[in-house]
Amino acid sequence: MNSSFLDFRSDTVTKPTAGMLDAMMSAKVGDDVFGEDETVQKLENKLAATFNMEAGLFCPSGTMTNQIGIKCFTQPMDEVICDQTAHVYRYEIGGIAYHSAASVRLLYGERGILTPELIEPEINEDNIHYPNSSLVVLENTVNKGGGSCYTLAQIAPIHHLCNIKGLKLHLDGARIFNALVATGDDAHGYGKYFDGISVCLSKGLGAPVGSVLLGSKETIKKARKIRKAFGGGMRQAGFLAAAGNYALDHHVERLKDDHKHAKALADALISTNYVLSVMPVETNIVVFEVAKGTAEQVVNRLKEKGLHCNTTSASTVRLVTHLDLSPAMIDQAVEIILHL
Ligand SMILES: *Cc1c(COP(=O)(O)O)cnc(C)c1O
Repeated sequence: MNSSFLDFRSDTVTKPTAGMLDAMMSAKVGDDVFGEDETVQKLENKLAATFNMEAGLFCPSGTMTNQIGIKCFTQPMDEVICDQTAHVYRYEIGGIAYHSAASVRLLYGERGILTPELIEPEINEDNIHYPNSSLVVLENTVNKGGGSCYTLAQIAPIHHLCNIKGLKLHLDGARIFNALVATGDDAHGYGKYFDGISVCLSKGLGAPVGSVLLGSKETIKKARKIRKAFGGGMRQAGFLAAAGNYALDHHVERLKDDHKHAKALADALISTNYVLSVMPVETNIVVFEVAKGTAEQVVNRLKEKGLHCNTTSASTVRLVTHLDLSPAMIDQAVEIILHL
């Protein structure tokens, strides 16, 4: 690694490993808009099989896979139901309004986790005044929830509700593999619950670029056309997809190390006098509340010592662990935290 600081700002900062670069260099590629890139197809098919979905679509970003999914599952003037912390609402530049001309109903889950009891009263009945509730979006893990996870057992009754009310269900699975590692759930169990699943390869999995949207053959056919309209049709994208294939083969099991590292940071943080509380750590995200002063002051002091992280509000700070942070670097970070 060529950076001289400890980078806890995000799990998107990882650089491709030597093995990943080798896999990219030797990828067999073709024009994917012509349907001729076998490495892209391998990635799409592999992830579809993993999650028991029919088909996949490789896209440049998780924002694109989410927004294409939402566009596939809504009509203009519909309403999307999601938690108020949802990435699709907060961090996708109002894309639901822009791309899909749909409104959003925001719910207040516990650390971003929704339940059928929260969702059901917010589904609009058929009434001339009301937008048509057509889609529920869940996020797993919940970024703003400090990496909180749904289990499949929690998702099943939400699916059941959506099914009887005629709503589609989309998963923003930017960190779905972190959730799978933390809960021990089987990825294959996801297919029967979701109409669309967005999986990011450039977060904890360590690929430089890319997300895959999963769905039925019919959904993905429509999604492929929408991706073209969004300007996301890529040509020899197999060089990028190869990084994703490599990440799926080599970087999933090791996510448990990131989770262990996050717990070590949380244990150190809670023992200091400048931290008021730490959100329960379930995966690779640690969010803490500062005891005095502002989050920005604490972030700046950590930065002076070589530990980079970000504020998430005026009083909260987020640290994210990932594969470019070795056990030795975590030890260093713990020392910085303890002696700030
Ligand atoms: C990062 C992220 C995304 C997608 O982000 P891109 O930067 O567009 O790839 C979507 N949802 C969540 C929860 C995320 O953390």
